[in-house]
Amino acid sequence: MRAFRPSRCPDEPREVDMSSTPPALHLVAEREPSAAKLSLREASKAYVQASGERVPAVDRATLDVAPGEFVCLIGPSGCGKSTVLNMIAGLERADEGRVLMDGRPVEGPGPDRAVLFQEPSLFPWLSVVANIEFALELRGTQKRDRTERAMAWLEKVGLARFALAQPHELSPGMRQRAALARALSCEPEVLLADEPFGALDAQSREVLQRELQQVWLETKNTFVFVTHNVREAVFLADRVVLMSARPGTFVAEHRISSPRPRAFEDVLLSKVVVDIHDHLLKEVEAIAALEAGARTDLA
Ligand code: ADP
Ligand code: MG
Repeated sequence: MRAFRPSRCPDEPREVDMSSTPPALHLVAEREPSAAKLSLREASKAYVQASGERVPAVDRATLDVAPGEFVCLIGPSGCGKSTVLNMIAGLERADEGRVLMDGRPVEGPGPDRAVLFQEPSLFPWLSVVANIEFALELRGTQKRDRTERAMAWLEKVGLARFALAQPHELSPGMRQRAALARALSCEPEVLLADEPFGALDAQSREVLQRELQQVWLETKNTFVFVTHNVREAVFLADRVVLMSARPGTFVAEHRISSPRPRAFEDVLLSKVVVDIHDHLLKEVEAIAALEAGARTDLA
C-alpha cells in the first residue's frame, strides 16, 4: 500500500491506494486546534438499524476547517457524508471522539450554524419574505429590522420580485434560493449544506453554484458543503475532501487554488475534476467488490 506523501504543489492530490482499506487521513491544519473554526477529532458514529444490526457510518474522522474556508465533502453514496455534517450541525452526536467549534464541543444545534438541506423546508403558508422574517424573529431580531434584512437578502439571491409569493408558486431553484436567503439572513458563522442543489436541473444548479460562490465571496463565512457532484465541489471549494466507502473516513484532499470568481470552463479545474473522479471510481469499485464478496458468502 502506498503511503500518503506530502503534496508538491497545492493542487496535487495526496495519493491513496484504494485497493485495500485506506488509512484514515488526518486533515488537521498546521496550527493550534483552537485556531480552527470546526474540528473533528477521531469522531465515530454508528447507527442501530430496526433489524438490530449495528451500522458503523463514520469511523475515526479527523478534520480541521479554517475560519472562512470553503470545504466540500465528497464520497460515494452512503459513505457517511450526511452523518459528518449532522454531527457538526449538532443534529447527531458522535459515539466516540470529539466535534468542536472554535475549540468548544458541539452540544447541539445553534444559531451559529445554519443548515441547508436538499429539500428547502419553507413554511408553505407563509410568503417568501415572511418565512425569512419568521426565522429572524426566532433569532430575536427587532421587528423594525426584520423586513429590511429579509429584503436585502432576497435582493442578493435575485428573489426580491418574488418576496410576496408563496413557496409553491416558485420553481425548485427559487425555493432553494429562498432557503439560502433565510439561512444567511440569520448571520450564521458557519453554513452547512447537504446536497442542496441535488434535486435541481443542470441549468438551475449552475446558476445557484455561481450565486453561492458570490455569497461566499461576500460573507467570507466558513462553508461545509456535501455533494456527490465532483464538478460542483471543485468549482466551489478551497479544499475538496474525499471520504472512503462506509464506514466513512477522510482519505484524500485536493486544494483548489484557482482564483475566484471561477468559470466552469477553467482547464485547471477540469484537471482536478478528472483526478477526483478517478479516486471516487476506485471507491465505488471497492464497494461493488465488497458487496460481491458478501453475496458470494451468502450463496
Ligand atoms: P451519505 O450522506 O454519504 O449518503 P449517510 O451519512 O446518510 O451517508 O449514511 C451513512 C450510513 O449510515 C448509510 O449506510 C446509512 O444507511 C446509515 N444511516 C444513516 N442514517 C441512519 C439512521 N438514522 N438509522 C440507521 N442507519 C442510518
Ligand atoms: Mg447524504
